[in-house]
Parts: sequence; structure tokens; C-alpha cells
Amino acid sequence: MIKLIDHIISSGNLTLEQFAGLMVSENKEGIQYLFSVARNTTAANFGRKASMHALLHLSSHCSFDCSYCPSRHSQPDIQRCRLSAEQILQHCTQAQAIGFRHILLSAGPDAALSDDFLIPLLSSIRQQCPQLSVSLALGVRSRQSYERLRQAGVVGYLLRHKTADPIHFAKLHPHDIPFEHYQQAYEHLAQLQFQVGSGFIVGTPHQTLEILYQELQRILTLCPHLVSVSPLLPLPGTPLADRPGSTLDATLRLLALIRILHPQVLLPTSAALLRLHPSGHELGLLAGANIIYQPLQQNTIN
Ligand code: SF4
Repeated sequence: MIKLIDHIISSGNLTLEQFAGLMVSENKEGIQYLFSVARNTTAANFGRKASMHALLHLSSHCSFDCSYCPSRHSQPDIQRCRLSAEQILQHCTQAQAIGFRHILLSAGPDAALSDDFLIPLLSSIRQQCPQLSVSLALGVRSRQSYERLRQAGVVGYLLRHKTADPIHFAKLHPHDIPFEHYQQAYEHLAQLQFQVGSGFIVGTPHQTLEILYQELQRILTLCPHLVSVSPLLPLPGTPLADRPGSTLDATLRLLALIRILHPQVLLPTSAALLRLHPSGHELGLLAGANIIYQPLQQNTIN
């Protein structure tokens, strides 16, 4: 296995067969070697340190219906809320005062988060928080909207496509927008020179090793600025609540492989890792991640 990992480093790629072997291997020494190579790659590109980015959830209203998400449109008995512009600005001001230099404002597709709401808000954030660079994760929007957001000073845009396989996508999101819209959105974001983030979920139903391999290939093709890899959490009340098994180990292996294959990418540990394991962030960093997202709220909108 160590030879295989060395081969991946020197060739910069791996076959499906090699990938499948790495994902199912029980060779503990080999897996520790994978993580140590990933860690050293992070250190060589970013130094031996991790950055903390602030994370603010703007809304739990969402028009989509992702089967794993407690904020999905058809989720019954959920109390939904949305931050006002004043609350968002206050959080940003506090984040800057604490010492954060990056903030990610995140929500699912929510019609209230229109350009007319966001543009004046972003202008206020720029004026009052000049040291804070703002990224957004607000789903697929029109090119015109992305352009307006870019002009309003947004630096990065994280768009989690959730799966690289169109058939798998349709199974997970039967009533949402077509898969192709994500591809088009990535093109728009790149054209507008956003720092583009991409991401996917590990452990969803119907996900095969072939699909996970496609995720890696897609990342190598897309070459995003940041990649977010989240394990599936079978959350109570969602259709996937009874889904068994932890995806911690698979997520860590994928983080390590992404770090090795795409050495300069920003690679966050996800809050979901922390929910799977009390040392989730540390394990993520030890597998090659270099960013921790720190939520600014205590479970009010998440
Ligand atoms: S994952 Fe995002 S887009 Fe999907 S239902 Fe949840 S908030 Fe909406």
C-alpha cells in the first residue's frame, strides 16, 4: 500500500481500482502513511498551521428537499428562522472583533435572500468590517446574480454539488433543479473570478466507490479553490434517519487523497466530522485539512 501511495504522489492520479483498494483497505500502517503524506503536503503548502473561518447560517428556510437535511422543504414540525440584515451585520462585526478574517455566509435556496436583500447588506459589511473577506454558499443562482454579488465585494462562493453522478443526484434530489445547473453555475462563478468552492457528501444512499471516484476526478478537472467534504449524518426526522454506519473513516481517507492530488486546495474539516467524533476537527487536520469553520451561532439556524 505504501508503494501505491508513493505512486499516486509521483503520478498525480490514480485508477478506479487503486482508489477502491485504498478506500476498503484494512492496512492500518498504510492508512497512517496516507494521512502522514497528506499532512506533510499541507505543511509544505500552508505551513504547520490551520486557519479558522467564521461560519454564519443565514436561514433555515429552503425550497429544496435534500433527503438528508433537517431544513428541507417538506420536513414537518420544524421551526424555521432567518437572520435579519441587522443581525447578520452584528455577527460580522463581532467576528471581525474576535479576529476572524474570513466569513462564510451560508443558507439553502431561500427566496428572501434576494439580491435586493444581499447587495445593501454586503455594502454595509464592507464598510463596517473592512478586514473581513466574505464568501457565500447560497446555492445555484443566475449569472446576473453572481455578477452583482461579485461586484458587491464577495470573494468566494462555495457551491456543494453533493454528487458528481447525475443519476445519483436525481435520486437524492428528485424535486430540485437539474444537475446540469450546477455545472453551468460553476462555469459562471469561474468566469466571474470567484474563488470557487466545491463539495460533496460521503455516505449517501446509492453512493458507490465508482461515484466517489467520479468526485475525485471531477475535483481534478474543476480545480476549485476549496473543497468541502462532509460525512452524511443520519439526522432524526429526515428520511435517512435510520441509515446505519459512520462515514468518518471514508471521509478522512478522501480528505487525504484530495490533499495529495490537489496540494494547494483549501480543505476544511466539516462540522459534521465533529458530530461524528469529539476530535473530528483534529482528525480532519491530521488527514490533510487546513481550515476549520467555526459556527458563530449556537444551533439557532443549522
Ligand atoms: S442541504 Fe441545503 S439545499 Fe438541501 S435542503 Fe438542506 S439547506 Fe436546502
